[in-house]
Amino acid sequence: MARYRGAVCRFCRRSGQKLFLKGDRCQTDKCAYERRAYPPGLHGRARRQKTSEYGTQLREKQKVRQVYGLLENQFSNTFARSTRERGIVSEVFFKNLECRLDNIVYRMGFARSRNEARQLVRQKHIELNGKTVNIPALQVKVGDEIAVREKSKKMDMLKLAADLFNRRPALSWCVTDQDKKCGKMKSLPVRDELGLNVKERLVVELYSK
Ligand code: SF4
Repeated sequence: MARYRGAVCRFCRRSGQKLFLKGDRCQTDKCAYERRAYPPGLHGRARRQKTSEYGTQLREKQKVRQVYGLLENQFSNTFARSTRERGIVSEVFFKNLECRLDNIVYRMGFARSRNEARQLVRQKHIELNGKTVNIPALQVKVGDEIAVREKSKKMDMLKLAADLFNRRPALSWCVTDQDKKCGKMKSLPVRDELGLNVKERLVVELYSK
């Protein structure tokens, strides 16, 4: 499937906050947002006109989509599926985004970014409940176990990811054993622990039009 391969730092600058899309670089003073905290483009520094309600909702939706690294159709399909499930749509939607296999691999600290996590899954370095999988969009369920394949455990990128993982706040809903390179999802994701500065209400409003 086609994938955006351009510069991602512009997304942070456009949204006016750090979205942590590049792994350890985001924690250093090389971060583009730290150096240029204004929108990208020739007129990025110029004063902007007031944004419409639709514009605000659209910007918020783009932000969430970029955080999870999804294409528009993947994102809108996830939303459509969420509306058919029981519960509050915004909560179900975030649960479905968070429970994607690539996101869980990132949350468990086997990759420095969701993009890297997606590569790990696609290149068959990851096992879900003992079986090798290569579909990043798979939904992980409570109780599922994720592990790095035995022959992939020596990869350098895993060491770098573990360093970054140790600097991040621990999550109560998923446990990781960095020595054995495996982890388990203990419960559904806890919204307050996700570190996401987004207003899901705006995304729901946009798609509900
Ligand atoms: Fe965003 Fe990371 Fe780039 Fe900084 S380095 S602008 S946080 S993607």
